Amino acid sequence: MKKSLSCLLAVFLFAAPLLTLAQKGSFAEIKQLQSPQNPRLGFVIHGGAGVIKRGSLSPEREAEYRKKLEEAVLAGYKALQDGKTSLDAVEIAIRILEDSPLFNAGKGAVFTNDGKNELDASIMNGKTLAAGAVAGLHRVKNPITLARAVMEKSPHVMMISDGAEKFAAEQRIELVDPKYFFTQERWDDLQRILEREKSNSPKSQVPSPKSENEKPNTKNQKQNPKSEIRNPKSEKYGTVGAVALDKDGNLAAGTSTGGMTNKRFGRVGDVPIIGAGTFADNDSCAVSATGWGEFFIRVGVGRSIATLMEYRALPIQQAADTTLAKVKTLGGDGGVIAIDKFGNIGISFNSEGMYRAYIDSSGKPVVEIYK
Ligand code: ASP
Repeated sequence: MKKSLSCLLAVFLFAAPLLTLAQKGSFAEIKQLQSPQNPRLGFVIHGGAGVIKRGSLSPEREAEYRKKLEEAVLAGYKALQDGKTSLDAVEIAIRILEDSPLFNAGKGAVFTNDGKNELDASIMNGKTLAAGAVAGLHRVKNPITLARAVMEKSPHVMMISDGAEKFAAEQRIELVDPKYFFTQERWDDLQRILEREKSNSPKSQVPSPKSENEKPNTKNQKQNPKSEIRNPKSEKYGTVGAVALDKDGNLAAGTSTGGMTNKRFGRVGDVPIIGAGTFADNDSCAVSATGWGEFFIRVGVGRSIATLMEYRALPIQQAADTTLAKVKTLGGDGGVIAIDKFGNIGISFNSEGMYRAYIDSSGKPVVEIYK
């Protein structure tokens, strides 16, 4: 008797908060949004996080960023409205950003230490947990499209470098001369960092390439493995990403980047690491990240946000904030965009700014840059 009374008490204690929530409408509202009669679309993109202070961009430059972000977010959203899948929307928007020199992805990719552009990307389908990732590309115009081909047209999840480009050729995915990725601004960024490295350590023999094709002789030079690949003071980052919820309630995420200026030794960041820079699962959320990749890999940012939602029932914004706080504790910076199966959006960053855009509940685009 005593035992069954305490059982009843335990059941009551457990159920009471849930009942209160349900009465407040949270569960009911959420379910309603996702009913087949009332499908909710959702679309969010980012164009990288970094030191983007108010006033640091000229009004013209800021207008260019806003215009391109708006174009991409509207294109992805239109795809969803036209009944296309969340994967389609993600790919469409990312391709637009990859084709713009403004962002550190595709055309505007940053330079490696030896003066090359090395691109990474990944995409994930929240319905099936299928994923595709590519890394260390030099000739693929739109890495996100290759990542999707890896996911959909191969038995693999990740392909790198020459092999990935061979697969791209087989799939008739557009290849370009590596010179296509040259932009003066990114080149100057690299030169500034190399100069700074030189003056910081006069003894180190840092190669300073003269042009993209004039490869410095690095064979006999010692490289400092801890060389500067991130300078929070001056460089801005522009990795791009998108997350989407389509009319069938399916989530998708994708991310594309040139990585970090001055990266060496075939360094690969978080972007093509499924569960770090990109993650999507209909049971929780879709995430695309940007920031100091090493930290995002170590924290497993995308998977962490999804886990906090799936197993600890945290709302999306809280899950994103909690994970980003962990990145910060370790010394990393950056941000994420995320969307859940009900169309709730989470945007979190611990950098000065993050280029981002989303479609609000009235269907209008919102573009933001600063904190
Ligand atoms: N996460 C990217 C990387 O580490 C860079 C960035 O997002 O700024 O390669």
